[in-house]
Amino acid sequence: MTTTTTAPSDAAPGGDRPTLESINPATGDVVGVHPVHEEADVRAAVARARASAEWWAGLGFDGRREVLTQWRGVITRRLAQLCDVVHQETGKPHGDAQLECALAIDHLAWAGSHAEKVLGRRRVSPGLMLANQAASVEYRPLGVVGVIGPWNYPVFTPMGSIAYALAAGNTVVFKPSELTPGVGTWLADSLREVVPDHDLLQVVTGYGETGAALCRAGVDKVAFTGSTATGKRVMAACAETLTPVVIEAGGKDALLVDEDADLEAAADAAAWGAFANAGQTCAGVERVYVHERVHDRFVELLAERARAVHAGTDVDAKIGPMTMPGQLDVVRRHVADALARGGRAVVGGNEAVGDRFVQPTVLVDVPEDSEAVTEETFGPTVTVRRVRDMDEAVELTNAGKYGLGSAIFTAKRGEDLARRLRTGMTSINSVISFAGVPTLPFGGVGDSGFGRIHGPDGLREFTYAKAVTRTRFKAPLNLTTFDRTPEQDSTVATLLLALHGHATQLPKLPRRPLETIRGRRREQAGAGRGQATRSSQPAAR
Ligand code: NAD
Repeated sequence: MTTTTTAPSDAAPGGDRPTLESINPATGDVVGVHPVHEEADVRAAVARARASAEWWAGLGFDGRREVLTQWRGVITRRLAQLCDVVHQETGKPHGDAQLECALAIDHLAWAGSHAEKVLGRRRVSPGLMLANQAASVEYRPLGVVGVIGPWNYPVFTPMGSIAYALAAGNTVVFKPSELTPGVGTWLADSLREVVPDHDLLQVVTGYGETGAALCRAGVDKVAFTGSTATGKRVMAACAETLTPVVIEAGGKDALLVDEDADLEAAADAAAWGAFANAGQTCAGVERVYVHERVHDRFVELLAERARAVHAGTDVDAKIGPMTMPGQLDVVRRHVADALARGGRAVVGGNEAVGDRFVQPTVLVDVPEDSEAVTEETFGPTVTVRRVRDMDEAVELTNAGKYGLGSAIFTAKRGEDLARRLRTGMTSINSVISFAGVPTLPFGGVGDSGFGRIHGPDGLREFTYAKAVTRTRFKAPLNLTTFDRTPEQDSTVATLLLALHGHATQLPKLPRRPLETIRGRRREQAGAGRGQATRSSQPAAR
């Protein structure tokens, strides 16, 4: 069935205006036709958003919470309809579509109800030097936020920016992926039902050019989620106008399995983390490092689970198609490279990559410098590598250029290992749980980008800190006047000595980072077990 939807601008499909078709990736059917918005359309949308921004900011926290609550109600009541659009445009099973919508609604609820607590005005200490001042800070909306989104979680991912930007008092112009324009349009239309007279959330549809136009259109911030390569282009474009950006880019997340882990649970989580959503999850599990003592058993368990699920359109299929046809080539290349360089497919392999679907694939003995380990594959494939211990697992995880999420299965050492992993988020004894906890910041380091969505950090991301001081009484020692006397300068010096003079003695710092010291201690304790003598203690302080 072909449906025609319009974005909330004067641009309508048909006539001379270029259009784009959204395609069901499982069937190849056209499911919608959408305008390709050009530079002038995007600028007009931003101008409308700016005209509504003052009204929205002026509504205050209570008014905005009320609107966002109503919007949440509309989305929830029409959930089945939204899930259907997601299913049609991405091909993912309805259950998966519902899961991402459920998490997005939860974030919307949290952002609306916590904005005042996180962003509202609060008094802070003025310190001793300016004790006559009342000091306060609050977080003001930026104005208009441009959100550029991907197709893999077309509701959950952009809502991580949209909900928080709106709750912070901004209006939003959203450019959804060219693969999921119908989902973006649905979201904007549903908010328009609650607030028909103001442009709180508008959608501009189109290809990369439309996104590039949004970067140039004078928005106050761009929240980009997508590939690292596009993130760099977005950042370069925004640099021209000093427009701030938050970049949520790709990942190559690792799962670490310790020798004392619950292997059944670890294998179950690894299978879901690697194969759900056809592996098209930014924080999905793409590589696994397993302690050598439990490696073989883990591979057996993971293989069992991989064989138990399949990709397809039948009712039993837990995995949908690859949403973006071009990604099939990437998956094919990575699997072929891994196998050509000595890797083995325990499940799946070259023949698992079809025209639209990829069957679960478990690869072992893959060299660490093969593309299947270093680059984002974004398909239902996973590499598993045997490691000597968790120190080696941490080292290999941190050797990658991405740093989005990670997961650890272990009985005892979760927090310690989590701290050593150079990733923005870590789940212990589960996978990707951090994404569903609204109070936690979401984002990465390295090639996975920077800035944070979700939680208090996510609210602040769409604001600027506003600092205010108010003189409460005439200061006996006025520092900000040309009338300051040499005697007063000498009083300042005396005060300074009293306040900070004692800090001359250097604190005793460990000569090596604490984690290294702890690691050494553990190693030595292990080596010298049974002969614990004073001399076996490391000299580190
Ligand atoms: P993509 O980079 O191809 O496209 C993302 C968006 O950017 C699309 O809307 C696209 O039209 C737009 N775009 C393309 N060129 C542009 C340009 N020059 N200027 C401005 N906008 C432009 O990514 P994708 O294929 O849609 O999504 C998959 C990627 O997204 C994966 O790498 C995945 O890891 C990543 N992702 C990251 C997160 C996260 O939170 N870190 C979440 C989901 C997806």
